[in-house]
Amino acid sequence: MSIFDNSEYDNHEQVLFCRDTDAGLFAIIAIHDTTLGPAAGGCRMWPYASVDDAVTDVLRLSQAMSYKNALADLPLGGGKSVIIGDSNKDKNEKLLTSFAQFVQRLGGQYYTAEDVGIGINDVEVLATTSDYVFGLAATGDPSPFTARGCFEGIRAAVKHKRGRDSLEGLTVAVQGVGNVGRYVCKNLYEAGTKLIVADVNAEAAAYAVEKFGATAVTPDKIYSQDVDIFSPCAMGGILNDDTIPQLKASIVAGVANNQLAEPRHGRLLYNKGVLYAPDYVINAGGMLNASGDIFGQYDINQVMERVTRLYNATLRIFEMAKQKNQPTNEVADDMARQKIATGRSSKK
Ligand code: NAD
Repeated sequence: MSIFDNSEYDNHEQVLFCRDTDAGLFAIIAIHDTTLGPAAGGCRMWPYASVDDAVTDVLRLSQAMSYKNALADLPLGGGKSVIIGDSNKDKNEKLLTSFAQFVQRLGGQYYTAEDVGIGINDVEVLATTSDYVFGLAATGDPSPFTARGCFEGIRAAVKHKRGRDSLEGLTVAVQGVGNVGRYVCKNLYEAGTKLIVADVNAEAAAYAVEKFGATAVTPDKIYSQDVDIFSPCAMGGILNDDTIPQLKASIVAGVANNQLAEPRHGRLLYNKGVLYAPDYVINAGGMLNASGDIFGQYDINQVMERVTRLYNATLRIFEMAKQKNQPTNEVADDMARQKIATGRSSKK
């Protein structure tokens, strides 16, 4: 299939296929849009079943970064990269260095960082070869910031749907208790919610049981829990034709990227009366923190203030969706596209 025929191709400015057989590297860098600034977004390493799967993922992820950065008021465009391979077996310094050389050759059109399969130590390795790397040790682990933004998004959803300021006594089902999910649980626990968790990694789930008094269920049971809020904090594509009918929660708000299997699933949630907090809006906290590396300035208080403002940003989307009788994902996408279009016309 030609890349231009891929349903996720959205006039991406540039897609670079990076091959270095000697280093065992096969990576794809997708630059979606650079109107508002250089494209920025992490690098994912994943054992994709096919090159087509990797292309689809990188196209979707890079578009979401354009929208995330635009709505977070960051002067950045959207980009993302994927390395095809198993991070547990295939990742090594030679491969990472080779990838960083490709990023360097783009001359600052794309800044890379961590994502699934690429950790902070790997990012430090990339930074020895490329100037265009962010999310380094100076700004630290983005997970607590991402989780805090998600918590603000959950608070906004509860305010909009239930008219309540407090989360006390509500029940939340959290899918995935990894780097971010465990901080999401911590915030919710401290706010007085009851937690139900599921993770394919039994140790991760056990951590939430021990630290936050959560009840653990098997991963297939997490969708149908009788809860107020469902918080997806694992992988994308989990809101689909199979899972949406199972939901009993009236709010979906979590950090996982690309939760909707397809945009039409936002409408399915809307028709079911479920309030969906668009993922790229409420998971921008890590980006707000890590982007300090790109701009060469980092003030943790300013970052926290901006992360807290995600409450108002999310609430605005809910209110506009209500006014327009439209699903929240469509409203957020329109707002992001409008922001980029305004940036483009002000450049002319
Ligand atoms: P992670 O790999 O540390 O955690 C994911 C957890 O989900 C793991 O514990 C894993 O075992 C579990 N999991 C995987 N499949 C599952 C399933 N089917 N059911 C239940 N559990 C499952 O990743 P993370 O850094 O916590 O990121 C989580 C999500 O948030 C990802 O989609 C990521 O792209 C997104 N995200 C992360 C950040 C960040 O700051 N790290 C920022 C924005 C978005």
